[in-house]
Amino acid sequence: MPLRFEFAHFSIKNHRNFGVRVTSRAEGAHGLLKRLLKSRRIDLHTLLRAIEETLERLRANFEAHLHEQSSKKVLRYSDPVMAPLRYRVGFAALKLIAGQVDIANSFIRGDRPTTTCTRAFNFQYGLPCCHLIKRLKELGAQLNIKHLEPHWWLKKPVCLFDMLITMGD
Ligand SMILES: [Zn+2]
Repeated sequence: MPLRFEFAHFSIKNHRNFGVRVTSRAEGAHGLLKRLLKSRRIDLHTLLRAIEETLERLRANFEAHLHEQSSKKVLRYSDPVMAPLRYRVGFAALKLIAGQVDIANSFIRGDRPTTTCTRAFNFQYGLPCCHLIKRLKELGAQLNIKHLEPHWWLKKPVCLFDMLITMGD
């Protein structure tokens, strides 16, 4: 992709990127590691310890977020159509879906004309769009975890094959 297109929304929306536009998470880890390393000239053992410390802090941070997002009920994400997703999907996904629920509700109320689905939202984010949500609501149905790409699931299904490979190490 030519560099000039990299930050242009019209360009990135044609790729499945789950809404990720920045590398701040990797940069945060890099910054943390740099702060732990006081000097540029260090021995390999010190570097390894610093990397381990960084990973440990990142892991603790991740666990804290996972616990919060898999146990806390957030009122603004509690439309009945979203109920089966509660505690199973992170806040970032719930926020994006809640936005689509709002649009679906305005279609249903007739506040705005129902648009034609281009599948662009679903394609870019791997999440259900307002058109699917509208249809589900009209059927009295709900969203389920399978409407979302596994990227968004807080708990991934365990792959027995992967487990056996790891146990063999
Ligand atoms: Zn749609």
